[in-house]
Amino acid sequence: MSFLLPVGITSYQAELPKVFSSNSIGCLSAIPTSINGRRWINICGIFGYIGKQNASEVVLAGLKRLEYRGYDSWGIAILADQIKINKKVGAIGDLNQALNLPKSSIGVGHTRWATHGGVTDINAHPHFSTDKSFCLAQNGIVENYQKLKDDLLKKGYKFQTETDTEVIVRLIEEKLKKTRDLKEAVRQAFLELSGRNTVIILTKYGRIIAARNGSPLVVGVNNKEIFFSSDTLSFAPFADKIVVIDNGQMVYYNGKLNVIDIKSGKSLPYRLEKIDFHSSKVDKEGYDHFMLKEIHESPYVINQIVNRAESQFENFIKAVKQAKNVYTIGSGTAGVAASQIAFYLRVFAKIKAQSVIGADIFEYYDLLSKDDLIIAPSQSGETADVLEVLEIAKKRKVKIASLVNMPGSTMTRMSDFRFMSFAGPEICVMSTKVFTSQIAWGYLLGKVISGKGKVGRENLKILSQEMERYLDAQSNHELIKKLAKRLGKSKDIFLLGKYQNFNIIKEGMIKIIEGSYIHAHGIPAGDLKHYAITLMEKGVPVVVVVSEDVAKGDVLNAVNQVKARGATVIGISSTSHPSFDHYIPVPNTGETQAIMNIIPLQLLAYYMAVELGHNVDKPRNIAKSVTVKYYN
Ligand code: GLU
Repeated sequence: MSFLLPVGITSYQAELPKVFSSNSIGCLSAIPTSINGRRWINICGIFGYIGKQNASEVVLAGLKRLEYRGYDSWGIAILADQIKINKKVGAIGDLNQALNLPKSSIGVGHTRWATHGGVTDINAHPHFSTDKSFCLAQNGIVENYQKLKDDLLKKGYKFQTETDTEVIVRLIEEKLKKTRDLKEAVRQAFLELSGRNTVIILTKYGRIIAARNGSPLVVGVNNKEIFFSSDTLSFAPFADKIVVIDNGQMVYYNGKLNVIDIKSGKSLPYRLEKIDFHSSKVDKEGYDHFMLKEIHESPYVINQIVNRAESQFENFIKAVKQAKNVYTIGSGTAGVAASQIAFYLRVFAKIKAQSVIGADIFEYYDLLSKDDLIIAPSQSGETADVLEVLEIAKKRKVKIASLVNMPGSTMTRMSDFRFMSFAGPEICVMSTKVFTSQIAWGYLLGKVISGKGKVGRENLKILSQEMERYLDAQSNHELIKKLAKRLGKSKDIFLLGKYQNFNIIKEGMIKIIEGSYIHAHGIPAGDLKHYAITLMEKGVPVVVVVSEDVAKGDVLNAVNQVKARGATVIGISSTSHPSFDHYIPVPNTGETQAIMNIIPLQLLAYYMAVELGHNVDKPRNIAKSVTVKYYN
């Protein structure tokens, strides 16, 4: 089995002066969290390229690497003798489509998730200015687009599309009437937009201008080329340094990279950060799907946690111990990881940690104060639900620690304590290895705080070996494949677990729902008798996770109750029990058992998705980098 090298960022003092303090979060806190109850949605991507390679090919490759973020249409614009645009609904095209465009050394691209205007070729981005002197693509939503559009219509502007994005284009044209400088017109127009928007513009004079207020924007640099993108991963193999553009900043290249403060129009010095990019190879390496490859990388990510985390723990541990309240917060799978991190803090470190999910709108409880500490695990570091809470927390001087996988993220930049998962790129929309790394980190944190860091590290090393052995044994896959086939025919699937395994069955539930689109329901074993027992009848599948811990007796008790009502019990455990109809054996790894137990559940979801013929790496209706808020 081969593994990717880790992604890592090290601070690099560039030839250019440094300005940002490491805690700088730019204008982030100035952004309203909601306007009239309307929230943002942005899960698409932008990409730009300037360099000697053929721009359309580079941009197309970049868009493909942004695909995981979700999209419904895409477009590329390049500059030849004039700007040429190729945009389409549906899957990102192959190289032939890129080659339809003339050769060029500069281009931009966009993956769109429609919010205003149908999913049509014409509504896809980029959008031309009336005189075709520039074109623009947007990530995000112009909240006040209707008012702006009405004003522009009165002034005689014509609109070709139904998008909010075209409003930005016409507004820039309007501003251009007074200032003949396009970047100044972009700046002025940007100041009038509300909502979260990040734009990229290609001009017929061979420039790219990009501005950020919400959706991520990163610039990649190597000796000869410049990349603009929504994430670092998309240009990973080609650039070795990045500049993270903060909210309220714009950037353009005219032979030299320039960063500008949008509000004042003043130039800002910026900092280049060096990235270890060996890591960023993004291919399936012989596996049928990224999901399976990424599950197989779990033992490796556990070792990364063992090797890297503790050296950075020292000051952080002091802060955790001193904090009045410790909250862990995350969304989706990271929300489950947050809950398991809190569990480990309670169990091993005796810290009264409490977990909250990002979507709970925690800030409205008005509980946060300066002596508190938040721990936020996130794959992307851009999850809007969590960022909202962190923005408020930051204002209140709450200490923030983040555990992020994607380099250069907003969450990392706004954190007092920055931890990286070092799990390498996770391409499958369903998170597997990053979840495993997050909970392994939580386990180690709990152990280190309790003064048993050495034991914790040893246990994780053993876990990593056991997990690798488990994953390498074909018989484990065959068994789970067979069960996946059966479960794929179910209407509902129940999961039971308690104590260390409660979050594990919750995560198993999420994986099954994502992969199979079948209803799954994770129940704390002790709660079964209070309500869900009504649903138990002949043949109902119940997946139960039983470990050699204090909860074992209770869980087996619950198993007997469902069994008595005819349920078909699938047991995940290091020992078989008579009430299991099907048994999935796992190695006994002691304190780290919960981390081991997630693997068969992830495999079950994987094989169900394959069995049902689903798009494994991109389940329907969900996207990976969920900078999604609800929108109405
Ligand atoms: N709101 C824009 C539209 O509907 C852009 C959405 C996006 O892709 O971020 O065109």
